[in-house]
Amino acid sequence: MADKGIEMKIPYLDLQLQYQSIKSEIDTAISKVLDNSSYVLGPSVQEFEKNYAEYCGVSYCTGVNNGTNALLLALKALDVGHGDEVITTANTFIATVAAVYHSGAKPVLVDVDPDSRNIDINLLSMALSNKTKAIIPVHLYGHIANMDPILELAKKYNIHVLEDAAQAQGAFYKNKRSGSIGEMAAFSFYPGKNLGAYGEAGAITTNDPKLDKIVRMLRDHGSQKKYHHELPGYNARMDGIQGAVLNVKLKYLDQWNKARNKVAGWYDEALKGLPIKLPSHINEEGEQVYHVYVIETDQRDKLQKYLLKNEIPTIIHYPIPVHLQDAFENLYYKKGEFPVTEKLADEILSLPIFPEMTQEQVEYVCEKIRDFFNGN
Ligand SMILES: *Cc1c(COP(=O)(O)O)cnc(C)c1O
Repeated sequence: MADKGIEMKIPYLDLQLQYQSIKSEIDTAISKVLDNSSYVLGPSVQEFEKNYAEYCGVSYCTGVNNGTNALLLALKALDVGHGDEVITTANTFIATVAAVYHSGAKPVLVDVDPDSRNIDINLLSMALSNKTKAIIPVHLYGHIANMDPILELAKKYNIHVLEDAAQAQGAFYKNKRSGSIGEMAAFSFYPGKNLGAYGEAGAITTNDPKLDKIVRMLRDHGSQKKYHHELPGYNARMDGIQGAVLNVKLKYLDQWNKARNKVAGWYDEALKGLPIKLPSHINEEGEQVYHVYVIETDQRDKLQKYLLKNEIPTIIHYPIPVHLQDAFENLYYKKGEFPVTEKLADEILSLPIFPEMTQEQVEYVCEKIRDFFNGN
């Protein structure tokens, strides 16, 4: 229990603390890149690709410059484009849908299951059409989507499956890591993700050598050999420094994910009995990871304000669902179309969580939440 009366300042996440814990290793790895001048791709990226493929249990990993481009390049490699439809959920970060849009295909959104907050399989099967070329299940908040029925549908109708694993580095689904379950997967290593670079970075994993070869060309202007361009490509290469940072941090990912799960367990325990919905444990013990810890309450806005007044910052992932964003007006979705997602947007709140968070800090946050509901 935190001592009553002692005021604490809780960060939402503390990247500095993590850097300090591995500073000498990181600084050495970055210096090496500077010493070789291998600023773009180069040995550190190659090494990370090899290590991350092995970590995920796949044959291939290609490092790119962010998670959004990882999704886009994977879609391109799967030959998704104009005239195609790609199904994903309304309850995701905008990048999932933006990548589909920029591939030329039409994003088809479906609502989520209220407990897992991931794609609803029944609604997914209802959204299939003869134009459906791919499905993007999003492992939101670090929890793997219900992949078996998705893979079954995909097989039956000959549809590609691309995991959006941006929030789920290291999570397991039935003994398979995220990134090894679908045909391809896209990762983001944005600094705040469970495995975060010190800048922008992303990756694509697959077991298919042909898809990997295309992705590798696409990230580098469509070429395998300098100034020979086989495909109209992009510039989506990973920086050498990011490869070096990720290589160091990958070694700690399991340990950090475990620490996050422990923090989530403390929250689960301390928030029991309050009028809030806690994250549900749909997967078996230890399989999911916590990118964020999301609670639900119909008093969300008041609670968020109350916590902020007590110097506890929280975030809403996400306050405006994709289908109600101005950017995607042209998809013609209306308010009311995805009631579960819309209710989540009104009621969810992500509490502070990071591997270094102490039980005392968690207790303090929970004490303030209890105070709020007790009208203090
Ligand atoms: C972070 C994120 C992305 C995009 O990754 P960037 O590296 O920021 O481009 C895509 N999808 C989801 C679900 C994410 O959380």
